[in-house]
Amino acid sequence: MNSNRKLKVLLVASEMTPFVKTGGLADVVGSLPVALNSLGGIDVRTIIPKYKYISDEEYDITELNHPIKFTIDNYEHEFRLKVKEMSGGWLSYFIDSGIFSDRDGIYGHNDDAWRFGFFSRSVIEMAKAINFKPDIIHCNDWHTGLIPAYLKTIYQDEPFFQDTKTIFTIHNLGYQGVFSKDLLPYLGLSWDEFKQEKLEFWDRISFIKGGLSYADFITTVSKKYSAEIQTPRYGENLHNLLRSRSDVLYGITNGLDYEEWNPATDIYIHRNYDSSNIEDKIHNKIQLQKENILPVSEEIPLLGVVSRLSPQKGLDIIADSIYELMSRNIQFILLGTGDEYYQDLFRRFGGEFRNSVSINLKFDLVMAKQIYAGSDIFLMPSRYEPCGLGQLISMRYGTIPVVRNTGGLSDTVQDYNSVTGSGTGFKFEHETSDGLLWAIGKALEVYSNKDKWKKLIKNAMNAKHSWKKSAGEYMELYRKITEDK
Ligand code: ADP
Repeated sequence: MNSNRKLKVLLVASEMTPFVKTGGLADVVGSLPVALNSLGGIDVRTIIPKYKYISDEEYDITELNHPIKFTIDNYEHEFRLKVKEMSGGWLSYFIDSGIFSDRDGIYGHNDDAWRFGFFSRSVIEMAKAINFKPDIIHCNDWHTGLIPAYLKTIYQDEPFFQDTKTIFTIHNLGYQGVFSKDLLPYLGLSWDEFKQEKLEFWDRISFIKGGLSYADFITTVSKKYSAEIQTPRYGENLHNLLRSRSDVLYGITNGLDYEEWNPATDIYIHRNYDSSNIEDKIHNKIQLQKENILPVSEEIPLLGVVSRLSPQKGLDIIADSIYELMSRNIQFILLGTGDEYYQDLFRRFGGEFRNSVSINLKFDLVMAKQIYAGSDIFLMPSRYEPCGLGQLISMRYGTIPVVRNTGGLSDTVQDYNSVTGSGTGFKFEHETSDGLLWAIGKALEVYSNKDKWKKLIKNAMNAKHSWKKSAGEYMELYRKITEDK
Protein backbone atom coordinates (compact mmCIF):
# COMPACT_ATOMS: atom_id res chain seq x y z
CA MET A 1 0.00 0.00 0.00
CA ASN A 2 1.17 3.53 -0.77
CA SER A 3 2.41 4.73 2.62
CA ASN A 4 1.14 8.29 2.00
CA ARG A 5 -2.42 7.13 1.64
CA LYS A 6 -4.53 7.03 4.76
CA LEU A 7 -5.35 3.56 5.99
CA LYS A 8 -9.12 2.97 5.87
CA VAL A 9 -10.47 1.00 8.79
CA LEU A 10 -14.08 0.20 9.59
CA LEU A 11 -14.47 -0.77 13.25
CA VAL A 12 -17.67 -2.76 13.79
CA ALA A 13 -19.31 -3.72 17.08
CA SER A 14 -22.62 -4.16 18.84
CA GLU A 15 -21.91 -1.47 21.45
CA MET A 16 -19.78 1.60 21.89
CA THR A 17 -19.44 4.44 24.36
CA PRO A 18 -20.87 7.06 24.64
CA PHE A 19 -23.94 5.69 22.82
CA VAL A 20 -24.59 2.31 24.38
CA LYS A 21 -22.70 0.22 26.94
CA THR A 22 -23.24 -3.04 28.75
CA GLY A 23 -19.57 -3.85 29.39
CA GLY A 24 -15.93 -3.36 28.51
CA LEU A 25 -16.49 -3.93 24.77
CA ALA A 26 -18.24 -0.55 24.55
CA ASP A 27 -15.33 1.19 26.27
CA VAL A 28 -12.84 -0.34 23.88
CA VAL A 29 -14.81 0.51 20.73
CA GLY A 30 -15.36 4.05 21.99
CA SER A 31 -11.73 4.66 22.93
CA LEU A 32 -9.71 2.89 20.23
CA PRO A 33 -10.74 5.19 17.32
CA VAL A 34 -9.90 8.29 19.36
CA ALA A 35 -6.44 6.93 20.09
CA LEU A 36 -5.89 5.74 16.50
CA ASN A 37 -6.99 9.07 15.14
CA SER A 38 -4.50 10.91 17.30
CA LEU A 39 -1.70 8.75 15.86
CA GLY A 40 -2.58 10.07 12.37
CA GLY A 41 -2.40 8.39 8.97
CA ILE A 42 -5.72 6.63 9.39
CA ASP A 43 -9.34 7.12 8.37
CA VAL A 44 -11.05 5.07 11.04
CA ARG A 45 -14.83 4.90 11.18
CA THR A 46 -17.09 3.01 13.56
CA ILE A 47 -20.45 1.36 13.03
CA ILE A 48 -23.00 -0.02 15.50
CA PRO A 49 -26.75 -0.77 15.43
CA LYS A 50 -29.00 2.16 16.24
CA TYR A 51 -30.84 0.99 19.32
CA LYS A 52 -33.92 2.66 20.72
CA TYR A 53 -31.81 4.36 23.41
CA ILE A 54 -29.62 6.28 20.96
CA SER A 55 -31.39 9.55 20.32
CA ASP A 56 -30.78 11.49 17.09
CA GLU A 57 -31.46 14.76 18.88
CA GLU A 58 -29.23 14.14 21.88
CA TYR A 59 -26.25 13.14 19.76
CA ASP A 60 -26.90 15.20 16.66
CA ILE A 61 -27.14 12.14 14.42
CA THR A 62 -28.27 12.64 10.83
CA GLU A 63 -29.55 10.36 8.08
CA LEU A 64 -27.44 9.65 5.00
CA ASN A 65 -28.62 8.53 1.56
CA HIS A 66 -31.86 6.80 0.79
CA PRO A 67 -32.68 3.54 2.47
CA ILE A 68 -30.14 0.88 1.45
CA LYS A 69 -31.53 -2.39 0.11
CA PHE A 70 -30.16 -5.91 -0.21
CA THR A 71 -31.62 -9.31 -0.99
CA ILE A 72 -31.39 -12.58 0.92
CA ASP A 73 -33.10 -15.70 -0.36
CA ASN A 74 -35.19 -13.62 -2.82
CA TYR A 75 -36.45 -11.35 -0.06
CA GLU A 76 -35.59 -7.68 -0.19
CA HIS A 77 -34.44 -6.03 3.05
CA GLU A 78 -33.59 -2.44 3.79
CA PHE A 79 -32.08 -0.23 6.45
CA ARG A 80 -31.33 3.43 6.93
CA LEU A 81 -27.79 4.63 7.45
CA LYS A 82 -27.16 7.36 9.98
CA VAL A 83 -24.01 9.18 10.94
CA LYS A 84 -22.46 11.44 13.52
CA GLU A 85 -19.23 13.36 13.18
CA MET A 86 -17.30 12.79 16.39
CA SER A 87 -15.10 15.41 17.98
CA GLY A 88 -11.76 14.66 16.37
CA GLY A 89 -13.49 14.59 12.99
CA TRP A 90 -13.98 10.87 12.47
CA LEU A 91 -17.33 9.36 11.54
CA SER A 92 -19.52 7.09 13.56
CA TYR A 93 -22.24 5.26 11.62
CA PHE A 94 -25.44 3.58 12.74
CA ILE A 95 -27.48 0.87 11.04
CA ASP A 96 -31.08 1.91 11.62
CA SER A 97 -33.79 -0.74 11.36
CA GLY A 98 -36.90 -1.61 13.36
CA ILE A 99 -35.25 -4.81 14.64
CA PHE A 100 -33.01 -2.55 16.72
CA SER A 101 -34.89 0.70 17.15
CA ASP A 102 -38.33 -0.72 18.02
CA ARG A 103 -37.09 -2.94 20.85
CA ASP A 104 -36.23 -2.56 24.50
CA GLY A 105 -32.96 -4.18 25.48
CA ILE A 106 -29.88 -4.80 23.42
CA TYR A 107 -29.32 -8.54 23.57
CA GLY A 108 -31.40 -11.54 24.53
CA HIS A 109 -34.15 -11.38 21.89
CA ASN A 110 -35.18 -14.69 20.38
CA ASP A 111 -34.30 -13.44 16.90
CA ASP A 112 -30.77 -12.28 17.85
CA ALA A 113 -29.28 -14.49 15.11
CA TRP A 114 -31.28 -12.63 12.51
CA ARG A 115 -30.67 -9.21 14.15
CA PHE A 116 -26.90 -9.54 14.15
CA GLY A 117 -26.78 -11.41 10.86
CA PHE A 118 -28.76 -8.56 9.34
CA PHE A 119 -26.44 -6.07 10.99
CA SER A 120 -23.38 -7.83 9.53
CA ARG A 121 -24.83 -7.86 6.02
CA SER A 122 -25.84 -4.22 6.38
CA VAL A 123 -22.31 -3.20 7.36
CA ILE A 124 -20.94 -4.68 4.13
CA GLU A 125 -23.73 -3.14 2.04
CA MET A 126 -23.27 0.25 3.64
CA ALA A 127 -19.55 0.32 2.76
CA LYS A 128 -20.48 -0.21 -0.89
CA ALA A 129 -23.35 2.28 -0.78
CA ILE A 130 -21.17 5.13 0.48
CA ASN A 131 -18.17 3.97 -1.56
CA PHE A 132 -15.96 3.56 1.52
CA LYS A 133 -13.55 0.81 0.49
CA PRO A 134 -11.98 -0.36 3.75
CA ASP A 135 -8.46 -1.75 3.84
CA ILE A 136 -9.56 -3.48 7.01
CA ILE A 137 -12.91 -4.34 8.52
CA HIS A 138 -12.16 -4.79 12.19
CA CYS A 139 -14.90 -6.94 13.74
CA ASN A 140 -15.52 -7.41 17.46
CA ASP A 141 -17.16 -10.39 19.20
CA TRP A 142 -19.78 -12.80 17.91
CA HIS A 143 -22.32 -10.16 16.83
CA THR A 144 -20.01 -9.26 13.95
CA GLY A 145 -18.66 -12.77 13.29
CA LEU A 146 -20.60 -13.30 10.08
CA ILE A 147 -18.88 -10.35 8.36
CA PRO A 148 -15.66 -12.29 7.59
CA ALA A 149 -17.82 -15.29 6.59
CA TYR A 150 -19.91 -13.20 4.17
CA LEU A 151 -16.83 -11.58 2.65
CA LYS A 152 -15.22 -14.97 2.01
CA THR A 153 -18.41 -16.46 0.52
CA ILE A 154 -21.17 -14.41 -1.08
CA TYR A 155 -18.99 -11.33 -1.59
CA GLN A 156 -15.80 -13.13 -2.57
CA ASP A 157 -16.00 -12.16 -6.24
CA GLU A 158 -17.00 -8.55 -5.66
CA PRO A 159 -14.20 -6.34 -7.01
CA PHE A 160 -15.11 -3.71 -4.40
CA PHE A 161 -13.81 -5.88 -1.55
CA GLN A 162 -10.86 -7.48 -3.35
CA ASP A 163 -8.34 -5.62 -1.19
CA THR A 164 -10.31 -5.69 2.05
CA LYS A 165 -8.87 -7.75 4.91
CA THR A 166 -10.67 -8.68 8.10
CA ILE A 167 -9.58 -8.75 11.73
CA PHE A 168 -11.73 -10.39 14.36
CA THR A 169 -11.12 -9.36 17.97
CA ILE A 170 -12.24 -11.66 20.77
CA HIS A 171 -13.33 -9.63 23.78
CA ASN A 172 -14.82 -12.66 25.48
CA LEU A 173 -14.69 -16.22 24.15
CA GLY A 174 -17.44 -17.21 26.58
CA TYR A 175 -20.08 -15.53 24.41
CA GLN A 176 -20.31 -17.28 21.06
CA GLY A 177 -23.69 -16.66 19.42
CA VAL A 178 -24.67 -20.29 18.82
CA PHE A 179 -28.01 -20.87 17.08
CA SER A 180 -30.05 -23.48 15.25
CA LYS A 181 -28.52 -24.62 11.96
CA ASP A 182 -31.94 -24.16 10.30
CA LEU A 183 -31.24 -20.44 10.23
CA LEU A 184 -28.35 -20.78 7.79
CA PRO A 185 -30.39 -20.17 4.59
CA TYR A 186 -32.20 -17.21 6.19
CA LEU A 187 -28.84 -15.66 6.87
CA GLY A 188 -28.00 -16.01 3.20
CA LEU A 189 -25.31 -18.67 3.65
CA SER A 190 -25.11 -21.99 1.89
CA TRP A 191 -24.84 -25.43 3.47
CA ASP A 192 -21.22 -25.53 2.26
CA GLU A 193 -20.43 -23.38 5.27
CA PHE A 194 -21.91 -25.92 7.68
CA LYS A 195 -18.62 -27.71 8.31
CA GLN A 196 -16.56 -28.17 11.39
CA GLU A 197 -13.74 -26.01 10.03
CA LYS A 198 -16.27 -23.30 9.19
CA LEU A 199 -19.47 -22.37 11.07
CA GLU A 200 -20.66 -25.70 12.45
CA PHE A 201 -20.48 -26.16 16.24
CA TRP A 202 -22.02 -29.26 17.82
CA ASP A 203 -24.61 -29.48 15.01
CA ARG A 204 -25.52 -25.80 15.38
CA ILE A 205 -24.10 -22.64 13.83
CA SER A 206 -21.69 -20.47 15.72
CA PHE A 207 -21.36 -16.78 14.87
CA ILE A 208 -18.03 -16.48 16.66
CA LYS A 209 -16.67 -19.22 14.38
CA GLY A 210 -17.47 -16.87 11.50
CA GLY A 211 -14.78 -14.63 12.95
CA LEU A 212 -12.39 -17.38 14.06
CA SER A 213 -12.55 -19.47 10.86
CA TYR A 214 -12.80 -16.82 8.13
CA ALA A 215 -11.06 -13.66 9.39
CA ASP A 216 -7.59 -12.99 8.02
CA PHE A 217 -6.27 -12.12 11.47
CA ILE A 218 -7.53 -12.70 14.99
CA THR A 219 -6.70 -10.66 18.05
CA THR A 220 -7.69 -10.81 21.66
CA VAL A 221 -7.40 -8.26 24.39
CA SER A 222 -4.34 -9.41 26.32
CA LYS A 223 -1.27 -11.51 25.63
CA LYS A 224 -1.92 -13.97 28.42
CA TYR A 225 -5.54 -14.59 27.29
CA SER A 226 -4.33 -15.16 23.72
CA ALA A 227 -2.23 -18.06 25.05
CA GLU A 228 -4.87 -19.30 27.52
CA ILE A 229 -7.62 -19.66 24.90
CA GLN A 230 -5.48 -22.16 23.02
CA THR A 231 -5.81 -24.57 25.98
CA PRO A 232 -8.79 -26.76 26.95
CA ARG A 233 -9.18 -24.98 30.30
CA TYR A 234 -9.92 -21.57 28.74
CA GLY A 235 -10.69 -22.45 25.11
CA GLU A 236 -14.48 -22.91 25.47
CA ASN A 237 -14.33 -25.88 23.07
CA LEU A 238 -12.64 -23.74 20.44
CA HIS A 239 -9.03 -24.21 21.55
CA ASN A 240 -8.18 -26.57 18.69
CA LEU A 241 -9.45 -24.10 16.10
CA LEU A 242 -7.58 -21.27 17.83
CA ARG A 243 -4.42 -23.32 18.04
CA SER A 244 -4.66 -24.07 14.32
CA ARG A 245 -4.71 -20.31 13.69
CA SER A 246 -2.01 -19.36 16.18
CA ASP A 247 0.14 -17.90 13.37
CA VAL A 248 -2.42 -15.10 12.88
CA LEU A 249 -3.55 -14.78 16.52
CA TYR A 250 -2.25 -11.75 18.43
CA GLY A 251 -2.78 -10.40 21.93
CA ILE A 252 -3.08 -6.63 22.28
CA THR A 253 -3.88 -5.45 25.78
CA ASN A 254 -6.66 -2.89 26.11
CA GLY A 255 -5.89 0.58 27.32
CA LEU A 256 -8.04 2.85 29.42
CA ASP A 257 -9.46 6.21 28.36
CA TYR A 258 -7.43 8.43 30.68
CA GLU A 259 -9.67 11.45 30.12
CA GLU A 260 -12.89 9.69 30.91
CA TRP A 261 -11.35 7.97 33.93
CA ASN A 262 -9.41 10.62 35.76
CA PRO A 263 -9.75 11.21 39.52
CA ALA A 264 -8.23 14.68 39.09
CA THR A 265 -11.10 15.91 36.89
CA ASP A 266 -13.96 13.44 37.41
CA ILE A 267 -17.10 15.50 38.06
CA TYR A 268 -18.97 12.55 39.58
CA ILE A 269 -16.71 11.96 42.56
CA HIS A 270 -16.92 13.86 45.82
CA ARG A 271 -13.35 15.20 45.91
CA ASN A 272 -10.81 15.25 43.10
CA TYR A 273 -7.25 14.04 43.68
CA ASP A 274 -4.18 12.86 41.86
CA SER A 275 -1.04 10.96 42.78
CA SER A 276 0.49 14.07 44.37
CA ASN A 277 -2.39 14.60 46.82
CA ILE A 278 -3.75 11.14 47.51
CA GLU A 279 -4.72 12.32 51.02
CA ASP A 280 -7.84 13.78 49.39
CA LYS A 281 -8.96 10.33 48.26
CA ILE A 282 -10.19 9.67 51.81
CA HIS A 283 -13.03 12.21 51.41
CA ASN A 284 -14.45 9.95 48.72
CA LYS A 285 -14.36 7.00 51.10
CA ILE A 286 -16.16 8.93 53.82
CA GLN A 287 -18.83 10.12 51.39
CA LEU A 288 -19.28 6.58 50.03
CA GLN A 289 -19.73 5.25 53.57
CA LYS A 290 -22.25 8.00 54.39
CA GLU A 291 -24.30 7.47 51.24
CA ASN A 292 -24.37 3.73 51.74
CA ILE A 293 -25.21 3.89 55.43
CA LEU A 294 -21.98 2.23 56.50
CA PRO A 295 -20.25 3.39 59.70
CA VAL A 296 -17.97 6.29 58.79
CA SER A 297 -14.38 5.34 59.49
CA GLU A 298 -11.13 6.20 57.81
CA GLU A 299 -9.46 3.12 59.25
CA ILE A 300 -11.85 0.27 58.44
CA PRO A 301 -10.75 -1.17 55.10
CA LEU A 302 -13.43 -0.77 52.42
CA LEU A 303 -13.49 -3.45 49.74
CA GLY A 304 -15.30 -2.63 46.49
CA VAL A 305 -16.69 -4.59 43.53
CA VAL A 306 -18.18 -3.21 40.29
CA SER A 307 -19.08 -6.09 38.03
CA ARG A 308 -21.46 -7.96 35.84
CA LEU A 309 -22.87 -10.67 38.06
CA SER A 310 -21.89 -13.71 36.02
CA PRO A 311 -20.01 -16.92 36.86
CA GLN A 312 -16.98 -15.57 34.93
CA LYS A 313 -16.35 -12.93 37.56
CA GLY A 314 -15.68 -15.33 40.45
CA LEU A 315 -18.47 -13.93 42.60
CA ASP A 316 -18.94 -17.31 44.22
CA ILE A 317 -15.36 -17.02 45.47
CA ILE A 318 -16.26 -13.71 47.11
CA ALA A 319 -19.47 -15.21 48.47
CA ASP A 320 -17.52 -18.11 49.99
CA SER A 321 -15.21 -15.59 51.68
CA ILE A 322 -17.86 -13.26 53.11
CA TYR A 323 -18.25 -14.86 56.55
CA GLU A 324 -14.52 -14.92 57.08
CA LEU A 325 -14.21 -11.29 55.92
CA MET A 326 -17.05 -10.19 58.15
CA SER A 327 -15.37 -11.77 61.14
CA ARG A 328 -12.65 -9.18 60.63
CA ASN A 329 -13.37 -5.47 60.76
CA ILE A 330 -14.02 -4.91 57.06
CA GLN A 331 -16.62 -3.12 54.94
CA PHE A 332 -17.80 -4.40 51.57
CA ILE A 333 -19.66 -2.58 48.81
CA LEU A 334 -20.88 -4.18 45.60
CA LEU A 335 -22.42 -2.65 42.48
CA GLY A 336 -23.60 -5.07 39.83
CA THR A 337 -26.36 -6.52 37.72
CA GLY A 338 -26.79 -9.95 36.20
CA ASP A 339 -27.70 -13.48 37.21
CA GLU A 340 -30.61 -13.78 39.65
CA TYR A 341 -28.63 -16.36 41.58
CA TYR A 342 -25.90 -13.88 42.51
CA GLN A 343 -28.37 -11.05 43.06
CA ASP A 344 -30.23 -13.18 45.64
CA LEU A 345 -27.01 -14.37 47.24
CA PHE A 346 -25.56 -10.90 47.73
CA ARG A 347 -28.92 -9.38 48.69
CA ARG A 348 -28.98 -11.89 51.53
CA PHE A 349 -25.49 -10.87 52.68
CA GLY A 350 -26.62 -7.23 52.57
CA GLY A 351 -29.52 -8.09 54.89
CA GLU A 352 -27.38 -10.16 57.21
CA PHE A 353 -24.53 -7.66 57.61
CA ARG A 354 -26.35 -4.32 57.43
CA ASN A 355 -23.58 -2.59 59.32
CA SER A 356 -20.75 -3.53 57.00
CA VAL A 357 -22.10 -4.64 53.62
CA SER A 358 -23.79 -2.47 50.96
CA ILE A 359 -25.31 -4.28 47.96
CA ASN A 360 -26.45 -2.24 44.97
CA LEU A 361 -28.08 -4.32 42.25
CA LYS A 362 -28.22 -1.86 39.36
CA PHE A 363 -26.20 -0.46 36.48
CA ASP A 364 -25.06 2.99 37.56
CA LEU A 365 -22.09 4.69 35.91
CA VAL A 366 -21.93 7.43 38.55
CA MET A 367 -21.97 5.08 41.50
CA ALA A 368 -19.32 2.97 39.76
CA LYS A 369 -16.99 5.94 39.72
CA GLN A 370 -17.72 6.69 43.36
CA ILE A 371 -16.81 3.12 44.29
CA TYR A 372 -13.60 3.23 42.26
CA ALA A 373 -12.66 6.47 44.03
CA GLY A 374 -13.91 5.66 47.53
CA SER A 375 -12.82 2.06 48.13
CA ASP A 376 -9.43 1.03 49.47
CA ILE A 377 -9.28 -2.32 47.71
CA PHE A 378 -10.98 -3.53 44.51
CA LEU A 379 -11.80 -7.22 44.18
CA MET A 380 -11.72 -8.97 40.81
CA PRO A 381 -11.33 -12.72 41.39
CA SER A 382 -12.36 -13.64 37.82
CA ARG A 383 -12.26 -17.28 36.75
CA TYR A 384 -11.13 -15.96 33.39
CA GLU A 385 -10.63 -12.40 32.21
CA PRO A 386 -9.83 -11.51 28.59
CA CYS A 387 -8.51 -8.09 29.66
CA GLY A 388 -10.70 -6.48 32.28
CA LEU A 389 -11.18 -2.78 32.74
CA GLY A 390 -12.22 -2.76 36.38
CA GLN A 391 -8.65 -3.32 37.59
CA LEU A 392 -7.30 -0.63 35.23
CA ILE A 393 -9.88 1.88 36.46
CA SER A 394 -9.30 1.01 40.10
CA MET A 395 -5.51 1.47 39.72
CA ARG A 396 -6.11 4.81 38.03
CA TYR A 397 -8.19 5.84 41.08
CA GLY A 398 -5.59 4.54 43.55
CA THR A 399 -7.78 1.67 44.71
CA ILE A 400 -5.62 -1.40 45.02
CA PRO A 401 -6.74 -4.39 42.96
CA VAL A 402 -6.80 -7.91 44.36
CA VAL A 403 -7.14 -10.14 41.32
CA ARG A 404 -6.86 -13.72 40.20
CA ASN A 405 -3.74 -14.35 38.16
CA THR A 406 -5.44 -14.86 34.81
CA GLY A 407 -5.70 -13.21 31.38
CA GLY A 408 -5.50 -9.43 31.32
CA LEU A 409 -5.51 -9.25 35.11
CA SER A 410 -2.22 -11.08 35.05
CA ASP A 411 -0.77 -8.82 32.34
CA THR A 412 -1.81 -5.49 33.84
CA VAL A 413 -1.50 -5.87 37.62
CA GLN A 414 2.02 -6.10 38.93
CA ASP A 415 2.22 -8.14 42.14
CA TYR A 416 3.32 -6.20 45.23
CA ASN A 417 6.84 -6.92 46.39
CA SER A 418 7.17 -6.38 50.11
CA VAL A 419 10.97 -6.09 49.90
CA THR A 420 11.24 -3.44 47.22
CA GLY A 421 7.79 -1.87 47.62
CA SER A 422 7.22 -2.21 43.88
CA GLY A 423 3.96 -3.43 42.36
CA THR A 424 0.41 -2.21 41.85
CA GLY A 425 -1.78 -4.87 43.46
CA PHE A 426 -2.12 -8.45 44.68
CA LYS A 427 -2.60 -11.60 42.63
CA PHE A 428 -3.64 -15.09 43.61
CA GLU A 429 -3.73 -18.34 41.67
CA HIS A 430 -6.28 -20.73 43.15
CA GLU A 431 -9.95 -20.27 42.35
CA THR A 432 -10.98 -20.69 45.97
CA SER A 433 -11.89 -18.53 48.94
CA ASP A 434 -8.57 -19.58 50.49
CA GLY A 435 -6.76 -18.05 47.50
CA LEU A 436 -8.74 -14.83 47.66
CA LEU A 437 -8.52 -14.52 51.44
CA TRP A 438 -4.76 -15.10 51.29
CA ALA A 439 -4.35 -12.21 48.82
CA ILE A 440 -6.72 -9.93 50.77
CA GLY A 441 -4.71 -10.81 53.89
CA LYS A 442 -1.50 -9.69 52.19
CA ALA A 443 -3.19 -6.46 51.06
CA LEU A 444 -4.47 -5.74 54.57
CA GLU A 445 -1.04 -6.26 56.04
CA VAL A 446 0.31 -3.49 53.81
CA TYR A 447 -2.82 -1.40 54.45
CA SER A 448 -1.97 -1.39 58.15
CA ASN A 449 1.28 0.42 57.36
CA LYS A 450 0.25 3.89 56.20
CA ASP A 451 3.52 4.76 54.45
CA LYS A 452 3.76 1.52 52.56
CA TRP A 453 0.11 1.74 51.54
CA LYS A 454 0.56 5.30 50.30
CA LYS A 455 3.49 4.24 48.19
CA LEU A 456 1.44 1.37 46.77
CA ILE A 457 -1.40 3.76 45.87
CA LYS A 458 1.11 5.98 44.10
CA ASN A 459 2.51 3.03 42.16
CA ALA A 460 -0.99 2.04 41.05
CA MET A 461 -1.95 5.58 40.04
CA ASN A 462 1.26 6.05 38.11
CA ALA A 463 0.99 2.76 36.20
CA LYS A 464 0.68 3.45 32.49
CA HIS A 465 -2.31 1.85 30.82
CA SER A 466 -3.48 4.57 28.46
CA TRP A 467 -4.70 3.74 24.95
CA LYS A 468 -1.63 5.20 23.30
CA LYS A 469 0.46 2.04 23.49
CA SER A 470 -2.38 -0.31 22.54
CA ALA A 471 -3.46 1.89 19.62
CA GLY A 472 0.16 1.85 18.40
CA GLU A 473 0.09 -1.96 18.44
CA TYR A 474 -3.18 -2.06 16.47
CA MET A 475 -1.74 0.40 13.98
CA GLU A 476 1.33 -1.79 13.55
CA LEU A 477 -0.89 -4.79 12.90
CA TYR A 478 -3.08 -2.85 10.43
CA ARG A 479 0.05 -1.81 8.52
CA LYS A 480 1.46 -5.34 8.54
CA ILE A 481 -1.80 -6.74 7.18
CA THR A 482 -2.12 -4.20 4.40
CA GLU A 483 1.54 -4.53 3.45
CA ASP A 484 1.13 -8.30 3.19
CA LYS A 485 -1.32 -7.74 0.32
P1 ADP B 1 -16.79 -7.04 31.25
O1 ADP B 1 -16.65 -6.34 29.94
O2 ADP B 1 -16.47 -8.49 31.22
O3 ADP B 1 -18.12 -6.78 31.90
P2 ADP B 1 -14.68 -5.27 32.16
O4 ADP B 1 -13.96 -5.17 33.46
O5 ADP B 1 -13.86 -5.40 30.92
O6 ADP B 1 -15.72 -6.45 32.28
O7 ADP B 1 -15.57 -3.97 31.94
C1 ADP B 1 -16.67 -3.70 32.77
C2 ADP B 1 -17.05 -2.25 32.58
O8 ADP B 1 -18.42 -2.09 32.92
C3 ADP B 1 -16.27 -1.33 33.49
O9 ADP B 1 -16.20 -0.03 32.88
C4 ADP B 1 -17.16 -1.30 34.74
O10 ADP B 1 -16.95 -0.14 35.51
C5 ADP B 1 -18.53 -1.30 34.10
N1 ADP B 1 -19.60 -1.86 34.93
C6 ADP B 1 -19.80 -3.17 35.24
N2 ADP B 1 -20.90 -3.30 36.01
C7 ADP B 1 -21.39 -2.06 36.21
C8 ADP B 1 -22.52 -1.53 36.93
N3 ADP B 1 -23.36 -2.31 37.58
N4 ADP B 1 -22.73 -0.19 36.89
C9 ADP B 1 -21.86 0.61 36.21
N5 ADP B 1 -20.78 0.19 35.52
C10 ADP B 1 -20.56 -1.14 35.51
